[in-house]
Amino acid sequence: MKSIVVHYQEIALKGRNRPWFISRLVNNIRRATAGLDVRAVRPLMGRIEIVLGPEARYELVRDRLFRVFGIANFGHAGRAPLDIEAIAAAILGDLGDTETPSFRVSVKRADKRFPMKSPEIEREVGGRIKLAKGWKVDLDHAALTITVEMMASEAFYTFAKDRGPGGLPTGASGKVACLLSGGIDSPVAAWRMMKRGCSGLLVHFHSYPFLSRASQEKVRELAQVLTTYQQHTRLFLVAFGEIQRQVVLTVPAPLRVVVYRRLMVRIADRIARTHGAQALVTGEVIGQVASQTLENISVIAAATDLPILRPLVGMDKEEIVAESIRLGTYEISVVPDQDCCQLFTPKHPATRATRFAVEEAESHLPIETMVAEAAAGAAIEHFSFLTMAEVRPQRADG
Ligand code: ATP
Ligand code: MG
Repeated sequence: MKSIVVHYQEIALKGRNRPWFISRLVNNIRRATAGLDVRAVRPLMGRIEIVLGPEARYELVRDRLFRVFGIANFGHAGRAPLDIEAIAAAILGDLGDTETPSFRVSVKRADKRFPMKSPEIEREVGGRIKLAKGWKVDLDHAALTITVEMMASEAFYTFAKDRGPGGLPTGASGKVACLLSGGIDSPVAAWRMMKRGCSGLLVHFHSYPFLSRASQEKVRELAQVLTTYQQHTRLFLVAFGEIQRQVVLTVPAPLRVVVYRRLMVRIADRIARTHGAQALVTGEVIGQVASQTLENISVIAAATDLPILRPLVGMDKEEIVAESIRLGTYEISVVPDQDCCQLFTPKHPATRATRFAVEEAESHLPIETMVAEAAAGAAIEHFSFLTMAEVRPQRADG
């Protein structure tokens, strides 16, 4: 079995953009499987075939494919000539001494030129396997389903399918700038947009040297995990402590949180525009904390003309936590750190800041200079394609 057949679902629907989506997916699969002796990745009649070299191990390739967005499902596949005897013989050869209480053969004709219809092929191939193995056929609840796909010049057969991560190929939907704190929500928000085909650059605001470097260490680890889903990630580390100090000098305590957020949004906007991102992404959730009332969310959003995408806006905390556990970001996010929000943060922030009051408070600040300097001074770190196996050991070393 020297192939993997990859099926995509949603991207099949994209009309005239379809070839472009597929070539994205093919490229992403190529990059994700680098170093595993994959000989070719090629589009083939509504599927993608991955051709494995002699050194390739299916399990290793599979682990990479679980993280390539745009894949609906995939299976380890063998190839046979377009001939009933040959297909049955190849299947029996690869089944070896496999045993099963029941089986069925399911045929799909990608190319309709083969002279027999699918049910007929199922009967003929199934009959030969039944004869050779003595297995029971069960069309409704088979323990083993052998799928045969009739292509133009050969047939593929698979014994099992794995679910892919779904979504759209990374990069197909353009670029976004994700505001990444060290918390639970924002990495999940970034991941959700990546799943929708956006490639994400990450922006983190830290208060070093006023606070420790812990939040930066956390976002580096989060960036590593997120990089297992996209090939390359840029992380922008923005020094925010001095800005907060200036805010404290002029802005009344209850308004500070909203003013901090508006400054974050402006700086992220600047970075996004400089680096080709078309929207900002946050982990905001309605009603979760003081800065996330409808009033405050809209006053914060007024600081940018870019759309702010909030993929978690209607989710409960438990749902977000469950997703972050699945992703592998939860255990990083819950490590205690000193978030910049803890610095100079008032005990009782306003939950209903008005735009008028906030703009009045900001009028005493050199906003443009603060934003320009912070954006220009951001440290940029690069993360290139990583696998989870590579992320974990680095974590263990601390
Ligand atoms: P999270 O779990 O993502 O930190 P939260 O529930 O703590 O979210 P807030 O602290 O109000 O909520 O932050 C709302 C959003 O603002 C975050 O999801 C993130 O997108 C952005 N944000 C907050 N703090 C930072 C930061 N230090 N650096 C970058 N983005 C931030
Ligand atoms: Mg937070």
